[in-house]
Amino acid sequence: MDLQNLLEDIVGTVQPLLGQGAPADYIPSLAAVDTQQFGISVATSDGDVFASGDADVPFSIQSISKVYALALVLAGDGDRIWKRVFREPSGNPFNSLVQLEHEDGIPRNPFINAGALVVTDRLLSIVGSSPSPVRELLRQESGNNSIDADPVVAASEAANSHRNASLAHFLASYGNLENPVDSVLEAYIDQCALEMSCTDLALASRFLANNGLRGNGTALLSPSQTKRVNAVMLTCGTYDAAGEFAYRVGLPGKSGVGGGIVAVVPNKCTICVWSPGLGRSGNSLAGVAALDEFTTRTGWSIF
Ligand code: GLN
Repeated sequence: MDLQNLLEDIVGTVQPLLGQGAPADYIPSLAAVDTQQFGISVATSDGDVFASGDADVPFSIQSISKVYALALVLAGDGDRIWKRVFREPSGNPFNSLVQLEHEDGIPRNPFINAGALVVTDRLLSIVGSSPSPVRELLRQESGNNSIDADPVVAASEAANSHRNASLAHFLASYGNLENPVDSVLEAYIDQCALEMSCTDLALASRFLANNGLRGNGTALLSPSQTKRVNAVMLTCGTYDAAGEFAYRVGLPGKSGVGGGIVAVVPNKCTICVWSPGLGRSGNSLAGVAALDEFTTRTGWSIF
């Protein structure tokens, strides 16, 4: 398999899609990002990296951060979080308020905003917010020590976070937050605002393809926990488009409204794609198409 050639081919294939869809506009600073950009990186289990297009351009990772927050909570606390968050697909938009009331303050899964707020709350209780545990993990696993939150994106989201603030207050009203609403929101917004390239993210996610082993050979998660994080990514990682994503791509994946998607081929590689034009459910249009092409051409799928 000539991965470098394949990635270059894929960059060509997605060109007609660039500029379609729209960047997230409810976070004003993301709305200004050029939708003509596309990058793809693959990090193999044994440490090789292949990349093409805008693979080294940093972008806002947004909800992709939810995977690492969950991994850190599972690593610190085992299964306890599952008393406070379900693990079923939501079939609703990622920032929906309605479902939370119906389900008495227990979010459907850790990858919709309500669930991620609960996970972030637990992470705050376990390790605190300074330094940001998600940022530290991503720095260590990618080897890029300059990874940081973009303060402009964080401020832009903070100034427009009425829905997330509502979700957090609602969770608190059900007794499903341990820390003050403002601290949870701040930590959540800060980890969403981390800026990373496709190559950074592909490298930093390798523990998901490597049975939970970090780059230095120590275990972040057990093989069984890693299987479960990947399972939740498959069923819930792309929100109400998770069925379509599984159909087209056939891999666990996690998207963010910055236009990035991380996908995992267990025991083989991680793939990160990025293009800011989003479809209706908040997933990158060109990114999903690229992953579809990648798994179709390589046959690397979990099915
Ligand atoms: N920070 C964004 C929000 O809370 C993340 C959403 C996403 O990437 N789907 O709305």
